[in-house]
Amino acid sequence: MFEGLRALVEGLLTTGKEMVSKPVTYQYPEIKKPVPPRFRGRHELKRHANGLEKCIGCSLCAAACPADAIYVLPAANSDQERYSPGERYAARYEINLLRCIFCGFCEEACPTGAIVLEHDYELAYYDRRSAIITKTQLLVAPPQGEQGTPRDMPDPGNLYAAIPPIKGGVEPVNIVEMAQTQV
Ligand code: SF4
Ligand code: SF4
Repeated sequence: MFEGLRALVEGLLTTGKEMVSKPVTYQYPEIKKPVPPRFRGRHELKRHANGLEKCIGCSLCAAACPADAIYVLPAANSDQERYSPGERYAARYEINLLRCIFCGFCEEACPTGAIVLEHDYELAYYDRRSAIITKTQLLVAPPQGEQGTPRDMPDPGNLYAAIPPIKGGVEPVNIVEMAQTQV
């Protein structure tokens, strides 16, 4: 009988303690649980500081993806219609989130730091088609005061024109001027 009474008191004490302790539940979706800094959530396609897209359509992310979840269709940039520095950009970029295992290999493989797994974990969909996210959904907005893409580049021929200046980096070279001085 004494054992039973002790168990009852212990049980009541545990219940009482929980009644006065701080709740650990989050009132989701109004309050979202913070995630660790290295959490891998939904992907984003990043831009340079000057608003150009970092993605150059090289498809290395698609090649590295173990789940075959990424589709990239590259196309050529022109100085009249420029999306990214260099020759090519991603005309289409899609990720099938039903296949994705959030391993981060695409992020590791990307030579320009364009694709990044960010902190969005709200990935519920009503149909399978909505789980395929497109470039429009992935691409972040341009930095404040910067133009979006595509855009007309005023300095055709300058290979570095599209790349934001790098602190302490080499001076940009205008290949058109260089060719003219060598003639
Ligand atoms: S996180 Fe992994 S599985 Fe998902 S798209 Fe990137 S490489 Fe593929
Ligand atoms: S996200 Fe990176 S790896 Fe993938 S196509 Fe664009 S530049 Fe290449």
